Amino acid sequence: MRDPVWFEKREDGWKCVLCPRGCTFPGGSDRLGLCRVRGVRDGRPFLPGYGRCVSLSIDPIEKKPLYHFLPGSRILSTGPPGCNLTCDFCQNWTISQSDGVPTRYIPPEEMAGICLSEGSAGIAFTYTEPVIWYEYIADTAPLVRERGGAVVMVSNGEVLPEPLERYTEFTDAWNVDLKSWSEDFYSRHCSGRLSTVLGTLKTLAASRCHLEVTFLIIPGENDDPSDWEEMADWLADNCGRNTVLHISRYFPGYRLKRPPTPEETLISAHETFSSRLDHVYVGNVATDFSHTLCPSCGAVCIERKGWSVNTDGLREGKCAACGADLGIVYEL
Ligand code: SF4
Repeated sequence: MRDPVWFEKREDGWKCVLCPRGCTFPGGSDRLGLCRVRGVRDGRPFLPGYGRCVSLSIDPIEKKPLYHFLPGSRILSTGPPGCNLTCDFCQNWTISQSDGVPTRYIPPEEMAGICLSEGSAGIAFTYTEPVIWYEYIADTAPLVRERGGAVVMVSNGEVLPEPLERYTEFTDAWNVDLKSWSEDFYSRHCSGRLSTVLGTLKTLAASRCHLEVTFLIIPGENDDPSDWEEMADWLADNCGRNTVLHISRYFPGYRLKRPPTPEETLISAHETFSSRLDHVYVGNVATDFSHTLCPSCGAVCIERKGWSVNTDGLREGKCAACGADLGIVYEL
């Protein structure tokens, strides 16, 4: 079995230093961390979730969502059986928050072989929370990239700075959730920290990795327009006004039973964010805000209908009409 990393020996046991949760394992007792994929057994760190995949399917890359990274491609998607947050509104709680989730063990070599079959552009670590799967991704990603594939992370952004820096060396694109502009929200609903996510966004924006952000709007919880203005300003100032933002519609699920986000709220949020960011999309609902428009000349560069993607308005990742750079990665 692969040697675990990101564990520190303490006088009274072990501490995991992969994510801000900082699970401790006093006295070397047999125990799992909150994420269920890392722990201590027989006095030593161990990785019960290594290579244990909860799901495996080839999805449109737009479903991650990534709109400016290899648009129109399909990507093999998988994830570990756990998460380091406990969001009340988790849409995948049956695989992220439950014990005994059925899994299939796929070693890195085999996964790298599978993921470039059937037209996949690479691999997306998604569905649950990939950052807790550090060792497996560190072993698999280089094999995928050696074969010309892309490595995508769809994450909550709750990871400590040092492992994050290492992740940027062997991953290519990230979609990170920015769940709220309030530390109180993160604490009450997710047992997470906004400050950590903001640090992650800054690091990724400054790195070689492509970055997109998702904001799920929940009625009565994170729908204050003054918060949206501050969030949009922060994203423009710290990640760049060309940062891609996906505004997503909430539907009730798991422990939170608010009504679905009204369409007017999504349209209002689109207007607020679009005044500060060049590429704002609305997802989980049928609107006209799914196409990529050129911020310079207004031409439609990518047209999307459901999962169908037409890139006729692009030329080598730039606007075909005026040549403006849209920050689109169209090949590796
Ligand atoms: S990665 Fe898992 S074990 Fe490590 S600190 Fe986070 S929740 Fe705990």
